[in-house]
Amino acid sequence: DEHKPSNFLRQIIERDLAQGTYANRHFASTPGDAKHHAAGPLDPAKIRTRFPPEPNGYLHIGHAKSICLNFGLARDYGGICHMRFDDTNPEKEEQEYVDSILDAVKWLGFDWNVGGTSHLFYASNYFDFMYRAAEALINAGLAYVDEQTAEQMRANRGDFGTPGTDSPFRTRTPAENLARFREMRDGKLADGAAVLRAKIDMASPNINLRDPALYRIKRATHHNTGDTWCIYPMYTYAHPIEDALENITHSICTLEFEDQRPFYDWLLDKLCELGLLAQPRPHQYEFARLNLTYIITSKRKLKQLVDEGHVNGWDDPRMPTIVGLRRRGYTPESLQLMAERSGVSKAGGWIDYSSLEIALRDDLDPKAPRACAVLDPLKLKLVNFTEIFGSESHQEPCHAPVHPAHPDRGQRQFVLTNEVWIEREDFMETPPKGYHRLYPGNKARLKYGYVIECTGCEKNAQGEITAVLAKLVPDTKSGTPGAEAVKVKGVITWVSVATGIAAEVRLYDRLFTEAQPDAGGRDFLSVLNPNSKKVVTAYLEPGLAAATPDDKFQFERHGYFVADRHDHTAAKPVFNRATTLKDTWSK
Ligand code: ATP
Ligand code: MG
Ligand code: MG
Repeated sequence: DEHKPSNFLRQIIERDLAQGTYANRHFASTPGDAKHHAAGPLDPAKIRTRFPPEPNGYLHIGHAKSICLNFGLARDYGGICHMRFDDTNPEKEEQEYVDSILDAVKWLGFDWNVGGTSHLFYASNYFDFMYRAAEALINAGLAYVDEQTAEQMRANRGDFGTPGTDSPFRTRTPAENLARFREMRDGKLADGAAVLRAKIDMASPNINLRDPALYRIKRATHHNTGDTWCIYPMYTYAHPIEDALENITHSICTLEFEDQRPFYDWLLDKLCELGLLAQPRPHQYEFARLNLTYIITSKRKLKQLVDEGHVNGWDDPRMPTIVGLRRRGYTPESLQLMAERSGVSKAGGWIDYSSLEIALRDDLDPKAPRACAVLDPLKLKLVNFTEIFGSESHQEPCHAPVHPAHPDRGQRQFVLTNEVWIEREDFMETPPKGYHRLYPGNKARLKYGYVIECTGCEKNAQGEITAVLAKLVPDTKSGTPGAEAVKVKGVITWVSVATGIAAEVRLYDRLFTEAQPDAGGRDFLSVLNPNSKKVVTAYLEPGLAAATPDDKFQFERHGYFVADRHDHTAAKPVFNRATTLKDTWSK
């Protein structure tokens, strides 16, 4: 797509396509296990990317960025993006998360089925290959079983600027290492008693190259492989192999993994030299993660919000999870837009939360049907209604465009009756200068209806205003020749008392009062916004009785609202505010 701004990843991909970097796949030496290439026949003309979540929680807006990036690049360059579960850690993974992740990716508009072939993979399906690769490294003198305590290993790793110290187990022969590694696999050693380590360089300035661990002993039942294994590969060992087995060309990750890249390269180069993997192998590229103000994206902290009841579940509309954003009224297109606009760069930084809302408005403005809603209702009585229409119960037909920019989408029909709901803020007994709405003696227009003149108000014993009184000005109906006869400055949205529908409306705002809720080690719970949810009973234009869950509307002058996915029914309408029309956040 030539309209998309370029970025360093696009440049790398375009260069690789132009140079045919991946056009000739081959094995460097005696072909090892070619059949273990999971992705089927090599596909030289295409790039392959992947989205590789660990199924240990719900995805959030940061993951949405990664999904849009990886699937988007594959789409734009005629390639394939793999959906891969990085499920090499047996303890934290659950089917519930697997299901929710697949659902989120589909909802965002992406598909791992390409040309009738599924590209859904589980890293745990490569455990056999990973194990054989480990034995090959041992045989080549590139890995050893270390039986130092965790404490000793930490101490001997050294520090930034201080070289590490070789383990006393580092000089074991390949035969010894192989026997010991098989004992690890066969359950002869206790959890934590030994690890398999790569033999690289304990003095490397990059600590990740100081003989990183490849395998650990952990007796835990895995959701896919059950109790087959009591040793599990480390993430840093597993991930490059997963990429290579799937013929990934561009392995895109966030900047935290930059220091791991030398090991990624070391491992794949060795496995290529040993004939286990085909060349050219995948390459890792890092970009700056998405950081949005006023939200947190740590799965652990999001889980804490859920577990401690600060929000109502993972899909609470205030959560930055994909399920939460979806329930809040965000569309796939708005999140794609946000991901696109946030760009791809090597420089980290914070993006203002409002950019998310702007993306949603930009997506919904041209699409969402309009409707009238009164969120803070005060009754307005039209004192001369019977006099003008001949009956107190008359219903005067009115109409308004479904969408002001699309006349072809038709008109909404509703009626004006003797009493209507207006916003409480649209009446003031003693208005400040410049107030053009209702106050005694002033005229304003009931939108899509008539000009009215305010004559006063009613109060209860406590002096609170209970109703506003006004006279209709005859012959001023919107859309009739007399509409412009009386000039007014104020326009009032309203809903008929007789025909409007009552609804629960949930007014959401930011969950935190500080832009960087967990900055500098601050307890993010101490900056929860106490006003992040307000529930009101509102009155809605009668046409909204036809709304079904997930339908989105612009409530005129209030913002964008969605019929709640879970709680909305025709009998008990529930709407969520997705976003206001303008940024109203003030701090
Ligand atoms: P955690 O560390 O909390 O378990 P994670 O962020 O590491 O979560 P993964 O499931 O490993 O989650 O992430 C899947 C992919 O999403 C990774 O490639 C990761 O780089 C990417 N990702 C996660 N957070 C962001 C973010 N804020 N911006 C961009 N990409 C992200
Ligand atoms: Mg992770
Ligand atoms: Mg993380």
